[in-house]
Amino acid sequence: MTPLVNPLVPGLYIVATPIGNLGDLTARAADVLSRADLIAAEDTRVTAGLLRHIGTKRPMTPYHDHNADAVRPGLVARMGMEAIALVSDAGTPLISDPGFKLVRDARAAGHNVVTIPGPCAAVAALTLAGLPTDRFLFAGFLPAKSVARATAIAEVAGIRATLVFYESGPRLGAMLAALAAGLGDREAAVTREITKKFEEAVTGSLSSLAARYADAPPKGEIVVVVAPPGEPAPPTADEGDAALIEALERLPASKAAGEVAKRLGLDRRALYARAMELKA
Ligand code: SAM
Repeated sequence: MTPLVNPLVPGLYIVATPIGNLGDLTARAADVLSRADLIAAEDTRVTAGLLRHIGTKRPMTPYHDHNADAVRPGLVARMGMEAIALVSDAGTPLISDPGFKLVRDARAAGHNVVTIPGPCAAVAALTLAGLPTDRFLFAGFLPAKSVARATAIAEVAGIRATLVFYESGPRLGAMLAALAAGLGDREAAVTREITKKFEEAVTGSLSSLAARYADAPPKGEIVVVVAPPGEPAPPTADEGDAALIEALERLPASKAAGEVAKRLGLDRRALYARAMELKA
């Protein structure tokens, strides 16, 4: 059934929905959801509640990890004639939720793809954590098994960015301990129940947070935000000398000083003076 007024242009509409507080549904999201020909929803019962909240009823079809491959071609075929909205249970579709293949296939088929941005737990957590936000890496859910989790943590340990993880209450203590072991004892924030009644952000070192939650798994939904690695320790005098001696074997003193200054971030003039001492 097509809505009576102002049909939407056919295509795929990616619609972000609230992560707890229904007041966060944007006016544009409500408009698109009430005019879509079909809503592809992760869980149609959850989305039915949202539609009730905005006083509308639209046809829905399930689109989730278990049926996506089977139903995607049919959805893409319909997008030529109909406006199909994709929603997940909460937050932004595609972010630790199904949808990227639907966007890819819709675009490959030449359909209109439109995003209606809105709440996303990862970004909301960054705004609560009080940690640097100029560079961040969204790492989603870590694997549940300890060896795979340690491997995944090692992969991101050297990245000079704030790290953002999704996690569940029962796994939080073990996850924080694994982060402390794999990343060092960085500052972090456990953000919980964002936009809901018991929203909180608990900050501290990873080891103190791991101790706090070890035997007290919190209820609700959680995002863990971890500070970037600290600045690397400045090179010691011995390291500077070793680099200079090696460079002096290949280069004249001024060039050796210049090369080492650039590589180790040391003062060029001081290195030149030291090079002359070493040569003498
Ligand atoms: N697509 C969603 C988004 O945009 O944030 C995320 C979906 S992912 C399957 C669900 C996870 O997001 C939860 O396990 C939790 O880690 C995080 N999350 C969702 N809502 C949250 C909230 N209100 N407070 C804290 N974390 C939340």
